[in-house]
Amino acid sequence: MPLNEDYWALTVALAAEAHEATEAVANFLWEVGATGVIEEEDRAFRGLRAFFPPPSDPAALRDRLTGYLDELRALDIPLGSGEVEVRLLPGEAWADLWRSHFRPLPIGRRLLVCPPWEAPAGPPPVGPAGPRTVVLIEPGRAFGNGSHATTRGCLELLERALDAVPVARLLDVGTGSGVLAIAAARLGVHDVRAIDSDPDAVAAATANAARNDVAGRVSVELGSLETWVGPPADLVLANLLGSAHVALAPALARRSAAAGCLIAGGLLVHEVPAVVGAFVPEGFHLVELVEHEGWATLFLARGARGV
Ligand code: SAH
Repeated sequence: MPLNEDYWALTVALAAEAHEATEAVANFLWEVGATGVIEEEDRAFRGLRAFFPPPSDPAALRDRLTGYLDELRALDIPLGSGEVEVRLLPGEAWADLWRSHFRPLPIGRRLLVCPPWEAPAGPPPVGPAGPRTVVLIEPGRAFGNGSHATTRGCLELLERALDAVPVARLLDVGTGSGVLAIAAARLGVHDVRAIDSDPDAVAAATANAARNDVAGRVSVELGSLETWVGPPADLVLANLLGSAHVALAPALARRSAAAGCLIAGGLLVHEVPAVVGAFVPEGFHLVELVEHEGWATLFLARGARGV
C-alpha cells in the first residue's frame, strides 16, 4: 500500500469531567493539522481521537501534544490521564473509522441531521409529525453536527418556535457548520442570515447550505455580532457560551425585531439565572427551557409570546 494513503491516528485519554481540556485539546489538534477529531467514549477508552495525513511526523506530534498537556496541567485544568498514543492506520481504515462515528440523528419531532454519506436513499424516516426534514451536515472542523447537546437543544426549540410564531427573517449568530440556519431554511424560513467570526465556519456553512439546496435562502457572512449590520430578525439564534450571552445580550437584543424572539444555547444549567437576568433589561422573558446533559437552551420572547 502506498505510504501516502496511510494515516496517523492519535488518541489522547481525557477524563469525562474534563470538558474544558477536551475542548482545548480538540482545538489544538485541529490547529496542528488534524483532518478529523472525534470525541470517543466506550468501556475501553474515553478521550479524543484525531487523524493526521502523511507526511505528519508522529514523534513531533506526540511531543507537541504532551507539551500542550503540560501547559494545561500547569494552569490546573483537570485532564485525566492525558496518555497519548499514535499509531499508523493503513489505507482507508481512517476514513471508515471517521465515518462510522457519525450516524443520522433524529432530533425533535421533525428533523433528521445526518452526514452526507448517510442521506436516506428513499423517502425520509417518519417521525411523530410526519416525514422528517433532512439536514445534511458534513462533519468537519466547524462545530455543529447535531450531536452536541447544545445544538440539539437549539434545534428542538427552533422547530417548536417555528410552529408557534411567524418567522420571515432569522439571524443565526455563530453559525458554525450552519446546522441551525440550514434547519430553519429547510423548515420554511425564507430569509436566513448566518454569521460567524471564524472563516472556517463560514466556508463550512456555505458548503453545507449548498448541499441542502438552501443556498438561496441562507446568506452566510464572515463577521462578529458586535459589528454586524443587518435588518432586525423575528427570531435570533445564538449557540454561544454563557459568559458570551451575558456580555452580548444588548447586541443580540438590538438584532431582534420589536416583537422578536431569541433562542440562546450553550449555557450550563447554573448559568441560567445570569443569562436570563441579562436579557430582562432588554425586554425579554423566559418562555421555555430545555436541558440536555447539563446544558440549557432558552427560548426568550418580547411581549406576550409563547411557544
Ligand atoms: N450554531 C452552531 C455552532 C455553535 S459554536 C451550533 O449550534 O451547533 C459557536 C460559533 O460561534 C463558533 O463557530 C464561533 O466561531 C462563533 N462565534 C463566537 N462568538 C461569536 C461572535 N461574537 N460573533 C460571531 N460568531 C461568533
